[in-house]
Amino acid sequence: ATEKQTLGFQAEVKQLLHLMIHSLYSNKEIFLRELVSNASDALDKLRFQALSKEDLYEGDNDLKVRLEFDDKAQTITLSDNGIGMSRDEVVTNLGTIAKSGTAEFLSTLTGDQKQDSRLIGQFGVGFYSAFIVADKVEVYTRRAGLKPDEAVHWESSGEGDFSIETVTKEERGTRIVLHLKDEEKEFANGWRLRSLVKKYSDHISFPVEMIKENMDVGEEEEGKEKAEPAPEFESVNEATALWTLPRNEIKDEDYKEFYKHIAHDFSDPLLWAHNRVEGKLDYTSLLYVPAKAPYDLWNREAPRGLKLYIQRVFIMDDAEQFLPLYLRFVKGVVDSNDLSLNVSREILQNDKAVESMRSALTKRVLDMLSKLAADDAEKYQSFWDEFGRVLKEGPAEDFINREKIAKLMRFSSTHQDDDKQTQSLEDYVSRMKQGQDKIYYITAESYSAGVKSPHLEIFRKKGIEVLVMHDRIDEWLMSHLNEFDGKHFQDIAKGELDLGEVEDKEEKEKQEEVSKEAEPLLNRLKEVLKDHVEEVRVTHRLTDSPACLVVGAYDMGVQMRRIMEAAGQ
Ligand code: ADP
Ligand code: MG
Repeated sequence: ATEKQTLGFQAEVKQLLHLMIHSLYSNKEIFLRELVSNASDALDKLRFQALSKEDLYEGDNDLKVRLEFDDKAQTITLSDNGIGMSRDEVVTNLGTIAKSGTAEFLSTLTGDQKQDSRLIGQFGVGFYSAFIVADKVEVYTRRAGLKPDEAVHWESSGEGDFSIETVTKEERGTRIVLHLKDEEKEFANGWRLRSLVKKYSDHISFPVEMIKENMDVGEEEEGKEKAEPAPEFESVNEATALWTLPRNEIKDEDYKEFYKHIAHDFSDPLLWAHNRVEGKLDYTSLLYVPAKAPYDLWNREAPRGLKLYIQRVFIMDDAEQFLPLYLRFVKGVVDSNDLSLNVSREILQNDKAVESMRSALTKRVLDMLSKLAADDAEKYQSFWDEFGRVLKEGPAEDFINREKIAKLMRFSSTHQDDDKQTQSLEDYVSRMKQGQDKIYYITAESYSAGVKSPHLEIFRKKGIEVLVMHDRIDEWLMSHLNEFDGKHFQDIAKGELDLGEVEDKEEKEKQEEVSKEAEPLLNRLKEVLKDHVEEVRVTHRLTDSPACLVVGAYDMGVQMRRIMEAAGQ
């Protein structure tokens, strides 16, 4: 099957290619990071598979990436001796986009260059970014373990289709040749490439080698007889996995670039925590909170979790056992010295060490967020705006940490006059009226619906603050949060209203009198409405509206009812 076959790109790939080329031109150089990142992943995968199948090394376990260029031909060539790809893998990996939710994602792009480039960055452009600088890309690849004549040559100009044919390739792994566009030929330059590798890929785990500086082929003199010496290569990056270095040897820039390598994001992270734990357990973690929510944060099937290494050997991506679901936005690496190299996802699920690591890592993330909240309110607010709704799943999932999580929460309240979630429970408590012993809240479909509620009238009159909860998840959240700082939460639309000590005695007596007088009216109303309501009561919670509906103290709230109805229950 050496015959050349031409195949069309999946529609989404065409769309992505088009958008990428047009929106990323101010960010072109990232193509190199993406390709080096893929090469590094391929080396990681080979090393992992070779743990149980030594043969895959084919006698060569000196894992590395090589970067060459030819300024006359305007090409850049990147080779790795990693896992490589079979013909089927090439067709899938370099012809389609495997991520779920891709079509939805693409439909959110607007055509606005600045906004789209950020979105595409979060989506992860990967391999296709080669077409930002190249008008033709060739891939030669052989899967480790396949025969030399089972290699594949893929070629495309990044428009509608690509061709693929079976070829012979002696060395396993992948070689990518970029034919640079005329206007991008400046990339075929030793100094430029070296500085890009340093900038973007200094701390991947493998060496990126280039021909020794004084031997760069681009610099020979024309027409001169030369005895071709074998080119000598040298590593141009540090090539030590970042998390293995001591913290004081790592620059912020290094942390940021490493984040981009593992998170497939090209914005800087919001914050990170890097820790070595020794003792009963022995592991290193490097955890990042992204600055922006990914496009698939609400997609249940979206991959999540940490990159797992064991004794520096890459084991798997998306190891989800190390953090709870409500911290699914956290990216990072965990490198364990306790786990056995042949763990599987199943084993991870029932492992005692993993369980301890999970609770320690959870605490680590919550502490890092608490610290941010204390040190930099503005930055914390930007975190909350992106990920607050995910964190609100916390109290239900993580009973032990619920007080800590509650402290991290921000709500809208009658203390302010906009719908921003900026008030912490500690803020609320500090403003409580003398004698007030509860934290009052109301849930509504929107902030404006909430503040218009007649239930709020009495609180306004008395100057008592009420939290206005208007996220879909809030009622669910409140069913798992009973108290904060020893104060109970009270839904002001539920059951009898008890303002505690805030109500004065005189007023109470007056209210009782009014209730007595109203008894005949109440009885008539009960009779008329008996099929619709359970009870009719005199209320003192209104000051302007004549009447309002309340839900029984133990009944489902109105929002919750809507969610259940929407779910068909
Ligand atoms: P991602 O790296 O996020 O998976 P990419 O678009 O960068 O997405 O790459 C797509 C896929 O192509 C990779 O997941 C991998 O399977 C394959 N691939 C890309 N480059 C290489 C390589 N150098 N060696 C082996 N496989 C590769
Ligand atoms: Mg990639």
